[in-house]
Parts: sequence; structure tokens; C-alpha cells
Amino acid sequence: MNNRIAVCPGSFDPITNGHLDIIQRGLKTFDTVIVAVAKNANKNSLFSAEERVEMIKEAVGHDPRIQVDVIEGLLINYVESKGAQVILRGLRAVSDFEYEFQLAQLNRTIHDQIETVFLMTSLRYGYLSSSIVKEIASLNGPIDEFVPEFVQKKLAEKFS
Ligand code: ADP
Repeated sequence: MNNRIAVCPGSFDPITNGHLDIIQRGLKTFDTVIVAVAKNANKNSLFSAEERVEMIKEAVGHDPRIQVDVIEGLLINYVESKGAQVILRGLRAVSDFEYEFQLAQLNRTIHDQIETVFLMTSLRYGYLSSSIVKEIASLNGPIDEFVPEFVQKKLAEKFS
């Protein structure tokens, strides 16, 4: 069979255990998962794209099946340029649905050969988001259940 490549795009500001769960579970279906950081000019991110990439690399460790990259330009063009067939996204609450539905429809209108595949969040990460983690970290709360140790350190540096 062909090499099945999925691109897992997101802000990853910063990467959480919820993202890592989706990436690892994605590897049960895909040979390669490219974790792709969106720069998001219109979102105020705490970390630069370079910092986000660094944290993801540290979090995923040395696994030849996982690549980490920054998305240049339109997502769908990026996915095609990587020879990937699938966009991999996670779904948490119903509140994620509308946005994800819109995005998936839009991307399929632009390129009908690239499918978006969703994995439902694991129960223990259903409430977890980068925003929540940042909020708790900014208030000096405990985040060890939510993000890898390296990310905890980076957050502590930002909010010190
Ligand atoms: P974006 O700004 O593109 O939504 P995020 O970094 O917030 O980027 O999320 C990237 C993807 O990871 C999205 O599909 C999101 O739904 C998913 N995701 C984020 N947190 C979780 C979680 N706790 N469980 C499952 N999926 C998640």
C-alpha cells in the first residue's frame, strides 16, 4: 500500500497532552503524521512559531513516523505539497463541531481529493485546550497533568 501521510494542523500554542493523544492515535491509521504549525497572523499567540515547533519536537521525541513543520501559505496547498492525502483534526465538545465542519467543507471545496479525518478526544482530555493551560499557568496553577514537562518550563518562563 502507499505511504499514508496525514497532516495534523493547528496553532499548538502550546502543544498539550490532548494534541499528543490525537497524534499518537493518528499513527494507528497513518504511516506518517506531519504536525504542522499554523502561524495564524490574526491570532495572538503566546509563543512564536519557532518556539511552538521546538516544544512539539521535544514532546514527540525521536519517532521517524512524526515530522514537525510550519505551514507556509494555504493549508490545502501545503498538504498537497507534502504528498499527504488527509488532514487530521481532533474533536472535543459540540462547540468544536461547527468550526471544524466549516473548515472541512471549505478545504474539500478547494481540493476534493484531500479528506479531513476526525478523531474524537479521549475522555480525559475532553476539556483540555491550549487556552485553558495558558490561563492556569498565568495564575501559577498546576499544569503537570495537561502538558509535557518541557512545555511546563516554557510556560513558567513566559509568565515569570
Ligand atoms: P486551531 O487553532 O487550529 O484550532 P489548536 O492547536 O487549538 O489549533 O488545535 C489543533 C487541533 O487539535 C484541532 O483539531 C483541535 O480540535 C484539536 N485538539 C486540541 N485539543 C484537543 C484535545 N484536548 N483533544 C482532542 N483534540 C484536541
